[in-house]
Amino acid sequence: MRQIGREPVFVERGEGCELVDVDGNRYLDWVGSWGPLILGHADPNVLAAVERAAARGTSFGAATAAEVELAEEVAARVPSIEMVRMTSSGTEAAMSAARLARAVTGREVVVKFAGAYHGHSDGLLATAGSGLATLAIPGSPGVTAAQAAGTVVVPWNDRDAVERALSGHSVAAVLAEPIAANMGVVPPEEGFLELLRTACDATGALLVFDEVITGFRVARGGAQQLYGIEPDLTVMGKVIGGGLPAAAFGGPRELMERIAPAGDVYQAGTLSGNPLATAAGLATLRALDDAAYERLATLTDRLAAGLARLAEGRPLQLATAPGLLTLFFSEQPVADFAAAAACDLDAHARFCRAMLDRGVYPPPSQFEAWFVSLAHDEDSIDRTLEAAAEALNA
Ligand SMILES: *Cc1c(COP(=O)(O)O)cnc(C)c1O
Repeated sequence: MRQIGREPVFVERGEGCELVDVDGNRYLDWVGSWGPLILGHADPNVLAAVERAAARGTSFGAATAAEVELAEEVAARVPSIEMVRMTSSGTEAAMSAARLARAVTGREVVVKFAGAYHGHSDGLLATAGSGLATLAIPGSPGVTAAQAAGTVVVPWNDRDAVERALSGHSVAAVLAEPIAANMGVVPPEEGFLELLRTACDATGALLVFDEVITGFRVARGGAQQLYGIEPDLTVMGKVIGGGLPAAAFGGPRELMERIAPAGDVYQAGTLSGNPLATAAGLATLRALDDAAYERLATLTDRLAAGLARLAEGRPLQLATAPGLLTLFFSEQPVADFAAAAACDLDAHARFCRAMLDRGVYPPPSQFEAWFVSLAHDEDSIDRTLEAAAEALNA
């Protein structure tokens, strides 16, 4: 909120697609806790599942049926995943997937994309999107040179740079958000994910998709289903926890069995696979059937079409994927982080303030996605578009 020149909103409660702040102001919420709340706030089925689980105890440090059911649900949706390791955050899941990739390849370098965000583990902070982009922090003090040296950063959608990085280093993994969504939404250009797959196969690097945002959102099986590209490992978070702290990584049995205790690659977490979080995640995923994805796409299309109409004749670019969109304050289409960073951030900030003044809460950063939920409806979209028309004119 500081970046858009506004006081923070202190939330009192959420109801469906709305937030109520401590002063009683209501906002149409397009942030959705930055991705997990695909069913909206305080979904009755998710709350009931959490309450039932809580009544039986909040953490055991031993196996429960629910974490197996959640792993089975994930594996049924995502064919590239045979085994799942639960964590409490996307940060841990991405960090552990990188460790596993280094262990199985015996190589050190991880290639990531400028403006992509994979959580805040030391090695993956280089030129990261999300909050680091919002605050214009290119790296972070406290990260050692040795840790930074294990990460090579290349521009998103730049085929030559990917090929150079893979031929110039001994690369353990290419780590990508298959639809970049932490520099604003920047889909892969035609053929780019295919190139990542073939370049990894040619050099023996693992392809790791960070589907923390796209997983269970853009399609039943995530972006890998939408684009028909199978990664070696997948990082999941946000929707998989249904608004509680759960995340995971997964892949084929042969790779995942390297993880302790089956194998020698250490990974652990006191609250991983926590019964409350797995209950919320399962209740959320079970609500996400084919009809739900159709509805989410319909709602996203309506919002996107309305914003695209408003963008005509203005220096605005609309980027969208199912359940996600970004309105870039830019004359040029945005295909990478350099283009996103060149947006008119002052105009974007004024737009966000004008929206908040009208009771609509867009992500208060040019480098974050709007998150559409199933609690939104035609009415909330039309009210948002009215506010957007006024805000752009103002
Ligand atoms: C949010 C996010 C993460 C980090 O997840 P946390 O649960 O916040 O640690 C990692 N990768 C991507 C793509 C994300 O959007």
